[in-house]
Amino acid sequence: MSDTAGRQPFHIVGAGPAGLAAALTIARAGERAIVYEQRSDVGGRFHGDLQGIENWTTRADALEELQTLGISPRFDARPFREGVFFDPAGKEYRYSSCDPLFYIVRRGPIAGTLDSALKQQALDAGVEIRFGQPCSRLPQGGIVAGGPRGADVIAVGYVFETDRADGVYAALSDRLAPKGYAYLLICGGRGTVASCFFEDFHNERLYLERAVEFFRGKAGLSMRNAVRFGGAGNAMVPKTARQGSILFVGEAAGFQDALWGFGIRIGMLSGHLAARALLERRPESYDREWRARLGGLLRTSIVNRYAFARMGDRGYARLMRGIAHCRDARQWLAGHYAPGWSKLALLPIARRAVRSSRAAPACPDPGCDCTWCRASHAPVREATVALRHSQRDLLPASPEPLSARNPG
Ligand SMILES: Cc1cc2nc3c(=O)[nH]c(=O)nc-3n(C[C@H](O)[C@H](O)[C@H](O)COP(=O)(O)OP(=O)(O)OC[C@H]3O[C@@H](n4cnc5c(N)ncnc54)[C@H](O)[C@@H]3O)c2cc1C
Repeated sequence: MSDTAGRQPFHIVGAGPAGLAAALTIARAGERAIVYEQRSDVGGRFHGDLQGIENWTTRADALEELQTLGISPRFDARPFREGVFFDPAGKEYRYSSCDPLFYIVRRGPIAGTLDSALKQQALDAGVEIRFGQPCSRLPQGGIVAGGPRGADVIAVGYVFETDRADGVYAALSDRLAPKGYAYLLICGGRGTVASCFFEDFHNERLYLERAVEFFRGKAGLSMRNAVRFGGAGNAMVPKTARQGSILFVGEAAGFQDALWGFGIRIGMLSGHLAARALLERRPESYDREWRARLGGLLRTSIVNRYAFARMGDRGYARLMRGIAHCRDARQWLAGHYAPGWSKLALLPIARRAVRSSRAAPACPDPGCDCTWCRASHAPVREATVALRHSQRDLLPASPEPLSARNPG
């Protein structure tokens, strides 16, 4: 029998990166953690797609930071120090940095992914994961890490096999991805091509096909055994991420980079901070902790999104020139993500301008199964039902009216 048997467990809803980071923190402190996961395995939202852990928002390396949280980077993570951007006219800009700009990881339930590695570490540390168990109540408090509760950004794409060499490509163009970007990631014979956009959500097929054509022409994209995927993201700065002794982490709290949708690193950090607050029996300290570590970053990302959404194609080209001509792309990006006073001075305007996509009218086609309808409307309806019938235990933390939403 383990040392922790008989102790009151800490309860966590959701076995994504945020929930598992929280569970690992608790288990490594010698306490019991129970994670409820509604699906039959981890990473059920993903399909082996390649994603990037950004490495420019701190001086410290992202993977080293994970180790300080008690997470071993024992997953396939390929560092990239260079890449290619295309402007709306298709002109190519190369950028590079001394240290890795990001680590490309795979997502989903299969071996080698971030999700399966986190699961294995959690199980090895003694975390109990109850798969196939949705949880809608936390009467004794705990951590909610249930992922996005709406769609402020949509990414649709294909995962595929390929003979192409490894590489990271992105294109900024409203024709390919309105107010967002299209990307092509190739790593170890596998690839992901996608359009990630913040407006006009119902036209996802059009943008995806345009993105595929673009990368076929510009980067020699060739795909075998392509499988289509689509997912949504949710970004906002909540007034509070706490409701009594229930703490919201990861995308359940809206913690995601509002500019480009990076959420993995922020999610794991917030999970760790919430777990520490519960371990110290001071849930009220969580708001202070996430604001200190993540608040500036989240607010800056709203200002960045506001500015980016107003750039238009000429502005994107200027941005590309800036990053291509700088000496070190990591430092350049770090400067753009730093919460300096000049940037935060724009925050009140950005807050007023950035509106919630949840307020957008429902799709007129009741049978529509586009990503936005699936991700944005269905869960909201389910959440409403859940709230009416449960004891409001899982009530979402009320966001500031601004929420870092798409300005569309
Ligand atoms: C297509 C796509 C591409 C992306 N690319 C990147 C990228 O390149 N870099 C990056 O940093 N971020 C990226 N993101 C965002 C990133 O994937 C998320 O921010 C991150 O996974 C959020 O982690 P999380 O733990 O908060 O939520 P999730 O990963 O969504 O995990 C939540 C878990 O909770 C479970 N759950 C939900 N409700 C319940 C319930 N009531 N009971 C039990 N279980 C429940 C879900 O099944 C799920 O397993 C991308 C997102 C998408 C959709």
